Amino acid sequence: MDATNTATTQTFIGKEARYGARNYRPVPVVVDHARDCLVWDVEGREYIDMMSAYSAVSHGHLHPRVVAAAQRQLERVAVTSRAYHGTTLGPFLEKLCALAGFDRALPMNTGAEAVETAIKCARRWGYRVKGIADGQAEILVARGNFHGRTTTIVGFSSEADYRAGFGPFAPGFAHFDFGDMASVRAATHANTCAVLVEPIQGEAGVIVPPPGFFTELREWCSRNDILLIVDEVQAGLGRTGRWFAFEHEGIRPDALILGKALGGGLLPVSAFLADDRVMDVFNPGSHGSTFGGNALAAAVGLEALQVIEDEDLVARSAAQGAYLLARLREVMAAARPLIRDVRGRGLWAGVDIDPAHATARELVEQLATQGVLSKETHETVIRFAPPLTITRDLIDRAVAAFRRVVLDKRKELRLGSAGVAVMAPDEAMA
Ligand SMILES: *Cc1c(COP(=O)(O)O)cnc(C)c1O
Repeated sequence: MDATNTATTQTFIGKEARYGARNYRPVPVVVDHARDCLVWDVEGREYIDMMSAYSAVSHGHLHPRVVAAAQRQLERVAVTSRAYHGTTLGPFLEKLCALAGFDRALPMNTGAEAVETAIKCARRWGYRVKGIADGQAEILVARGNFHGRTTTIVGFSSEADYRAGFGPFAPGFAHFDFGDMASVRAATHANTCAVLVEPIQGEAGVIVPPPGFFTELREWCSRNDILLIVDEVQAGLGRTGRWFAFEHEGIRPDALILGKALGGGLLPVSAFLADDRVMDVFNPGSHGSTFGGNALAAAVGLEALQVIEDEDLVARSAAQGAYLLARLREVMAAARPLIRDVRGRGLWAGVDIDPAHATARELVEQLATQGVLSKETHETVIRFAPPLTITRDLIDRAVAAFRRVVLDKRKELRLGSAGVAVMAPDEAMA
């Protein structure tokens, strides 16, 4: 790289650092443009996107059909607010309900707003249908959950950093251990109106629940008249190799939260879905959003769903995801004991790094220098979640780069397979 270009990179990073709030710590790559699974920085270097904006870019960057749908709509009307009807919202909601198998959908913008919608709905349902005394409803949430960043939502996070200094928090939430039915039972009370849970805990480190957990949870909720609300903002729409991750568990939740990929990689589009008996607690005036379900967002959301269907992205996620996990497990075997675990489902993999040897962050930064974009979650897990359009060839290239990075690290640490430093053969001879 020449000096002028480096200056460009540093200039952009410098401006964000100088004028932006310090609420993020980005990998030092300045993205200039992107197409499908590839991204180019301001210096013209190419990267394979193995992150896809946390599933928001599941369709690949600037999918031509989604872009064309947006352009068509931009010649007609974009935003009217829900004060009026439009020509795109109805068809979008109809498609969404048909795909997910629910009576109704309530469109919002960000994932956190759809989660807030779920919380309001669950509480009102608790009072008006279940008969809980006003103000007493409780929602069960998992330890290690991630549902967004509003004050109510971080209030029931178990992550100290997400909460510190932001209280007082809304009451009405109780915790259970993800994957542990005994803990769900212990946390349940007569006032419990809902369980709000991710099917796979993404931010917690791509934690897949033990088999049978969701089946038992479904039974428990039905038996105790509790709504089971699954947050598939990240897991839904093909990410795990099924349209919805709850399908892996053979269950049907009472309500579903979608976001990220619903915006086709262009816009924030989210939704809360439920059947009449639950959704009917909302009446005019009880909930809303100025931009939620706007004409442009609905046109984009509808096309995003149609593209997933037409391009068979769900089946591709299952096939390519199985391949990615298998290749990452080969790297784990070769890099012992640097990598403790490789887990995931579909095109969603977490690589668990042993903190005794390296941080996930340093490997993510190294990997970026090798032309692969990934992201750490917490100190120990590297997340790989490429667009669902990724090819085998790109997976091979990304995994080869990752292999080089971890093997270089292992060499630098002089690790033997038992995890203790050993002398390199040439040193032993000297
Ligand atoms: C990203 C995410 C959210 C929050 O979505 P935003 O669009 O960032 O508000 C909620 N739930 C889950 C499971 C997520 O992954």
